[in-house]
Amino acid sequence: MSNARLKLKNAHRIVIKVGTSTLAYPETKKLNLSRIDHLIRDIADLHNSGKEIIFVSSGAIAAGIGRMGLPAKPDTVPENQALAAIGQGVLMHIYEKFFAEYGKTMAQLLLTGNDTIDAHARENSRNSLMAILKMGVIPVINENDAVATDEIRIGDNDNLSALVATMIDADVLIILTDIDGVYNSNPKTNSQAKLIDEINEITPEIEALAGGAGTKLGTGGMFTKIQAAKKALAAGITTLIIQGSEIGALRRCLQGEKIGTIFPAHRE
Ligand code: GLU
Repeated sequence: MSNARLKLKNAHRIVIKVGTSTLAYPETKKLNLSRIDHLIRDIADLHNSGKEIIFVSSGAIAAGIGRMGLPAKPDTVPENQALAAIGQGVLMHIYEKFFAEYGKTMAQLLLTGNDTIDAHARENSRNSLMAILKMGVIPVINENDAVATDEIRIGDNDNLSALVATMIDADVLIILTDIDGVYNSNPKTNSQAKLIDEINEITPEIEALAGGAGTKLGTGGMFTKIQAAKKALAAGITTLIIQGSEIGALRRCLQGEKIGTIFPAHRE
């Protein structure tokens, strides 16, 4: 087991980001309740073991699409903002239900890019997050899509999760997605593609591997995940990209098991 993976056992403050592709069925855009239940149970269990968890969740727009029975994501910004407003409530209702079942209290935080960049706003968000953590509550964060205009928008929750992780000095950032990790070539088109276990430096070659595409529902893709890892690493935060559909992967990777791709931080 690599040293970087062994150290994960000691991680205390953990940011977990989950993408739309993990949370919703691609065909119906409705929420994958069984997957969400497993995920929340694992998070609640990690919390029981004494860890601080900060949960960054996408899926609001998808949940809005599912609730309204739309066939696809609309083209206009206001329509997507409306769906984010509809879906955010749907999503929180489910999270609140599952967290409550496992005896946990959660707190919703909707941030914009400005809240993570502007010094004053950042300090405010940090203070609020710290107070929530001190109360033993699990913050559930999304971008405030319903009001975020282009100028203050981050646009994807991978980068948002890295900005949150740096804001609160997290030990680890874990990004759950619909692929096992970073591959040395596109596994969808190349059957010989190999999963990279550990990336010690984000070189232009690694960035090139990530390409640009995301799924139809989410906005990210491997590209924004690598950007997020870069931001987190610069702040000394080890980052992992793992499969979100694999039950127990989240807990097992924190035990040091070789799951997904790890980007070890080289400075504290
Ligand atoms: N904030 C968006 C949502 O909740 C998703 C952004 C992303 O997919 O990264 O639907």
